[in-house]
Amino acid sequence: MAKHIVALVICIGVAGGVILAQSEEPLWPGAKYDPAIPTLRQVVGHDPGKEITSPDQVGQYLQALAKAVPARTRLTEYAKTWEGRPLWLMAIGSPERIAALDRVKADRRRLADPRGVPGNEIERLVREVPAVVWLAHGVHGNEISSSDAALQEAYHLLASQNDADIDLVFRNVLVLIDPMQNPDGRARFLFQNLQARAMTADGAPYNAEHDEPWPGGRSNHYLFDMNRDWFVQSQPETRGRVRIFRDFYPEVTVDLHEQGGDNTYYFAPPADPLNPHMTESQIAGFDLFGRANAARFDQRGWLYFIREVYDAFYPGYGDSWPTFQGSIGMTYEQASARGLSFARSDKSTLTYRDGVMHHFNAAITTLITTAKNREKLVRNFLEYRRSAISEGEKDPAREFVLLPGHDRSRADLLAKNLATQGIEVRRAEEPIKIGTREIPEGAYLVSHAQPAGRLIRNLLDPAIQQPRDFIKRQEERRARRLPDEIYDITAWNMPQLFDVEMVTSPNAINAKNSPVSAEYDAPPKAKSVAEGKVGYLIPWGSAAASLTVEALQQGIRIRSVGGAFKLNGRQYPIGTALIRHAENPGNLHARLIALTTKHGAELVPIDTTYVESGTSLGSSANAFLKPPRVLLAWDAPTVSTSAGWTRYVLERRFNQPVTIVRTASLARANFSDFDVIVLPSGNYAGVVGEAVITRLKDWLRAGGTLVTIGEASRWATANNVTLLDTTLLLRDGRPDVPATGGGGGAAAAAARPFDYDKAIQPDRERPEPQPGAILRVSIDTDHWLSAGQDSETQIMIEGSRVFAPIKLNSGRNVGVYAKKETLIAAGLIWPEGQDLLVQKAFLMHQPFGAGHVIAFAEDPNYRAFTEAGMLLFMNAVLLGPGY
Ligand SMILES: [Zn+2]
Repeated sequence: MAKHIVALVICIGVAGGVILAQSEEPLWPGAKYDPAIPTLRQVVGHDPGKEITSPDQVGQYLQALAKAVPARTRLTEYAKTWEGRPLWLMAIGSPERIAALDRVKADRRRLADPRGVPGNEIERLVREVPAVVWLAHGVHGNEISSSDAALQEAYHLLASQNDADIDLVFRNVLVLIDPMQNPDGRARFLFQNLQARAMTADGAPYNAEHDEPWPGGRSNHYLFDMNRDWFVQSQPETRGRVRIFRDFYPEVTVDLHEQGGDNTYYFAPPADPLNPHMTESQIAGFDLFGRANAARFDQRGWLYFIREVYDAFYPGYGDSWPTFQGSIGMTYEQASARGLSFARSDKSTLTYRDGVMHHFNAAITTLITTAKNREKLVRNFLEYRRSAISEGEKDPAREFVLLPGHDRSRADLLAKNLATQGIEVRRAEEPIKIGTREIPEGAYLVSHAQPAGRLIRNLLDPAIQQPRDFIKRQEERRARRLPDEIYDITAWNMPQLFDVEMVTSPNAINAKNSPVSAEYDAPPKAKSVAEGKVGYLIPWGSAAASLTVEALQQGIRIRSVGGAFKLNGRQYPIGTALIRHAENPGNLHARLIALTTKHGAELVPIDTTYVESGTSLGSSANAFLKPPRVLLAWDAPTVSTSAGWTRYVLERRFNQPVTIVRTASLARANFSDFDVIVLPSGNYAGVVGEAVITRLKDWLRAGGTLVTIGEASRWATANNVTLLDTTLLLRDGRPDVPATGGGGGAAAAAARPFDYDKAIQPDRERPEPQPGAILRVSIDTDHWLSAGQDSETQIMIEGSRVFAPIKLNSGRNVGVYAKKETLIAAGLIWPEGQDLLVQKAFLMHQPFGAGHVIAFAEDPNYRAFTEAGMLLFMNAVLLGPGY
């Protein structure tokens, strides 16, 4: 497949050259290039900006440059995508620095953590280290021009002759070029773009070549927006980048994107709101680079904008995560031609080459600006890391303590996540006391007094506030039904979304402890567990769920205990897994030891099943689990992120095999081949017709488990679908049922004095979409769907869906939004939304014949950082077919 694409690219490249031939501005006026350095045309067959360089060709060209200039380059493959494509990083610097790159990295790391480094050594570092600039391109695969700009950045640096600015860059800067952060997405974009191109270039935005089919090229293989994944690190691409950052600790990080084709160009300073954990010197840094880019763009007569649209609040962007590690992190946005040429509404034509040229100029200007300000930037970076430590020492919340709780695998996972980001996390090897609270051994300690202190605050402190005047402005806009200016979610607190309890200690904790490894794949420690005469119990939780998936695939027979019970003096909640020797092969003990070590679950040997109280282990309330055969609906009209998150959680987080079926093919899928059907968020009206709905109902009556998410749950309530027996609520709290005519309301209103403000309110209005906040949900712990959860959890809410709780004769509300006083765990919920959401349904279970409909109001797999929600989802998939 890849070879065919290469051939096509070359022949269309020639045609494109003819179409766009006109006198063109040079990419960098006055540049003189060494003819010994290979050009893009010489290596792949087209000139810069004349064709969209394919992912394979990007690698090919970088390899050619590395071969031509080995002394000043170091090309490494830093990770592989899910689809097996390499991710490249090219370091470009002086021959001395490239030869001693490991020493440069070691110096950079000492600068990033100056604790214990003598003062004169620090001064030497400040004098000698190069400033590091990381130019990262194309995290969104359909934002195409930046990768071609990246190739020209490398060429310009390596081929320029007699250029004092470039000489200064080599003297003062180490340049890191990541040409293509999302090759899978770029390949997907290019594949459809080449197929859709007309014989004659056509810039109309609705022309097929500019109009991507589902899911578009923005996301990666699992349809994640990787510009939200930085602290989540769910994707291998992100993990590779976090590792690079921790190798080099760059002073300047630039993430190069594209935006709508009618825009101009955006660079820093960013829009409001700024995250409160940014420092003055970083904000001054935005201004330094903003002014330098502006001077370049003014000189060349190009329009740009600043301080609009692109905010700096969420810490998981490619610009903000580096910022909270001390970098000056910036996003650059070029208007996208989404192909080779684009007809703008002002009748001008935007070419692909324009995009390449603008990005290239901004990037090179950034390098020169860094070179001119090396010492100041290095010192500011050092000061950022130092002041994070000293601020942490004075912080009234000196340490965060993560409690293992009943499902310690989630705390383990969170500790590992933090450690791999370069945060020091210690495991307390003895019990500790905070105030009057006794905390058992095994808690995780995260001190604020460390260089990554501001990242820690961002990820663990639930109160990251937006400025008051910003919120006030949004309230005014809302009153006029104008959309808010909130760019992303307003809360992301990791302990809440993992449902890991966290307490703060005002003092440094001096308990015996061991550091949590910062390696992603540190081998787990083998656990020794005695052999149980009867068998084993596995208390339910995230690790138990992933263990169960694998054990079921291996043919191990597992039962889920359908109620709470007490055995050997220990209380076990509903959903505890029971695995007995009597119904399993002889090597069960060894296999379970291997599985519990790998998954991190707890294994409890039992010699009797005679419970002291509660549900018997042989009760008919228990469920025999079978390896679920899962169908996941795919393709339009599903929301691609929801479909992708769901697929990722099933396939990669829990290793559950899935059959992916395009929604249009549901009509010919044999549902009886499946135990579980998952409908990701999306409005299935018009795609899933009456015949499929009828078959779904027959399948449910025969014992199927249907899981609906977000908008799919809304669809399931529609009166021509009737899979879920509840109603959605309108903004004013009335049920959203079709209007019945009448008109008595208007007549009654006429009798009262005219109220203009009331008169302009719409009659039927959906609740406002919430800007992404974390809500508390009360859990019905008597229901098997709650296995592994306590009576309260936290979920991410983003939609405008409010479901009336399901009535007792139809089903149960396993998760209900909390009462008003405790509803909001973190982030912003508009005031009327708070009243409306109180005690409405988040997770509903409706028995359907022998089967189940399990409906989530919001996406439990949101960005794959909602570990607690992901467990609720897996309970539906794993336990549903058993109960
Ligand atoms: Zn983007």
